[in-house]
Amino acid sequence: MVNCVKEEKMKDLVCNMDVKESSEFRSTYKGRVYAFCSASCKKSFDKNPRVYVKS
Ligand SMILES: [Zn+2]
Repeated sequence: MVNCVKEEKMKDLVCNMDVKESSEFRSTYKGRVYAFCSASCKKSFDKNPRVYVKS
């Protein structure tokens, strides 16, 4: 039996760090949730999400 606690990993698109989906710094953009390592990364993203999100 594999003891696997699955926690979705997300990428902080601002600084390129791996962050947990449960991060307290999150933003929703175009229906998708993005997580960040810190308030300042979130702020940068919120200011100009198009810079970070490539569609
Ligand atoms: Zn960051």
